Amino acid sequence: MIIDFFKTQCQHTKIPVDTDYAYCPDCGELIKNEWYLIRCSCCNIKRTAHFEYKKIKPDTKYCPNCGSTEFYIQKLDKISFIDVPYTVLVKEVVKQINNETHQIWIEKDCEQLSEGKMLRLPSL
Ligand SMILES: [Zn+2]
Ligand SMILES: [Zn+2]
Repeated sequence: MIIDFFKTQCQHTKIPVDTDYAYCPDCGELIKNEWYLIRCSCCNIKRTAHFEYKKIKPDTKYCPNCGSTEFYIQKLDKISFIDVPYTVLVKEVVKQINNETHQIWIEKDCEQLSEGKMLRLPSL
């Protein structure tokens, strides 16, 4: 089996946003679109957010309404039109192997490889 490391770099940009599941034409992975919303823990207003380093973060540090830095992430089952400016779309790769432990190990391995930590040439 050849592991294609470029797969882990794919941003799945060709997945349509109005579908729940689709296969990415660039890497062949099954992708699930998931929508998230960030709300202020203090006054509960919706805050604009973005996806950064595998985490959902609010665009601003402080709530524009009450000045709080506390927030919580709400997962949306369905995206509604009024929420669009606030929602963050996360494209999750759907793993099709049932053995979870095995799969986590593979992911860790790939991450390390892509960071170059395990790429050691054999000393001759
Ligand atoms: Zn992809
Ligand atoms: Zn607030």
